[in-house]
Amino acid sequence: MTDANPILSGASGAGPMPIPGHIDPVPVPRPGLVEGVTPREDGRVDLMGLPKKRIADLFETAGLDLKAAKLRAKQVYHWIYHRGVTEFEAMTDIAKTMRPWLTERFVIGRPEIVEAQHSSDGTRKWLLRTADAHDFEMVFIPDADRGTLCVSSQVGCTLNCRFCHTGTMRLVRNLTVGEIVGQVMLARDALGEWPKGRMDFAFGDGVDGAETDEDEGGYSSDGRLLTNIVMMGMGEPLYNFDNVRDALKLVMDGDGLALSKRRITLSTSGVIPQMARCGEEIGVNLAVSLHAVTKDVRDEIVPINKKYGIEDLLQACADYPGASNARRITFEYVMLKDKNDSDEDARELVRLLKQFNLPAKVNLIPFNPWPGAQYECSTPERIKSFSDIVFKGGISAPVRTPRGRDIDAACGQLKTAAEKKSRAELERLYAEKEVALG
Ligand code: SAH
Ligand code: SF4
Repeated sequence: MTDANPILSGASGAGPMPIPGHIDPVPVPRPGLVEGVTPREDGRVDLMGLPKKRIADLFETAGLDLKAAKLRAKQVYHWIYHRGVTEFEAMTDIAKTMRPWLTERFVIGRPEIVEAQHSSDGTRKWLLRTADAHDFEMVFIPDADRGTLCVSSQVGCTLNCRFCHTGTMRLVRNLTVGEIVGQVMLARDALGEWPKGRMDFAFGDGVDGAETDEDEGGYSSDGRLLTNIVMMGMGEPLYNFDNVRDALKLVMDGDGLALSKRRITLSTSGVIPQMARCGEEIGVNLAVSLHAVTKDVRDEIVPINKKYGIEDLLQACADYPGASNARRITFEYVMLKDKNDSDEDARELVRLLKQFNLPAKVNLIPFNPWPGAQYECSTPERIKSFSDIVFKGGISAPVRTPRGRDIDAACGQLKTAAEKKSRAELERLYAEKEVALG
């Protein structure tokens, strides 16, 4: 492909991300790039992450007439997201003569797998790389009744919760839609979970060289390994709202990855201004990283609290569209020894959740250690006592079993190139991020 190709125009959204509060660089449109798509060295355009309409627009720009562009986009979309196909040659209802035309101009990418690790408890972690060489991670957690994929929304995180390893990463960039949905696609690849068989489009065009002789294809709901998605990997998903929303739309689309919104949970540290939009525009389950019940402690361990305080956060939860007793909001609470784990804290937690009349459940997460962390996990007795108080207050408060600790895949352990920073370096980094937060 050359720059003369008409497909290649627009600005890229894939540069390193300024920490909020810093002066944003003026975005300079880079010729030869398609907006929101990480550019590739070979100049072809990666369709991964694009909705049907944009695929059709690209096909039209590349020379198809409107009707053909729409039809091809519908077929290609289905093959990409519903069937997991990565080669145009495998799209059997598209004319054989058409396939090289597509291959010359487009690709169906996946994030590159740099390393795949398997925990002794069955948890799997993948170190992934974007086309422009940024590393991030995703984790798959199999359970008896479900399989949960923990998806990243950013490379690193601009926030700096003191107990979270991801918060110690300096470099941050938003993941693109393709890089977010690409994680789910990769997991399906690795788990061997794409439906096999024929496309059953009414408009299949076998007449001009397409093949239509495969078996019926479709997902079967039983035996599915990947049943749930949690936006709980690296990054703050509500600081990358548009891309997360667009990626989850592809995941929820019946003609796409076809996963129910009831099986998707988005976790936020409390970016209040985006919470209502999350309910309205995405409609997934909400989890909130509360972790403390007093201003002093939450200011210290979840510094975004200085900007968006506990009471306002709980009010935003009370207003969250779609929350009900049938769809409760999960409050995550990391158990830190002598920091937030007293009986008094537990009673205050119950009081607050009741004051705001929240349809709530509490998830108690034993702190997962990482090199350089300044906290310890609460004792099992303390966690039990805390949990009992919340349960007696009428709110479910199970203790989450840490998974994948042996491969640093547990909550808050994700961090690529895990170099150990000195305490002084960490303090400097936290100070920088806090200034940026404003
Ligand atoms: N940024 C989002 C989602 C990713 S973190 C958020 O903060 O909600 C997923 C969960 O793991 C959050 O509740 C986070 O606070 C928690 N967590 C972070 N570090 C942890 C650690 N070291 N041990 C246990 N839980 C941790
Ligand atoms: Fe970012 Fe979430 Fe980690 Fe806080 S807990 S630093 S918001 S990833």
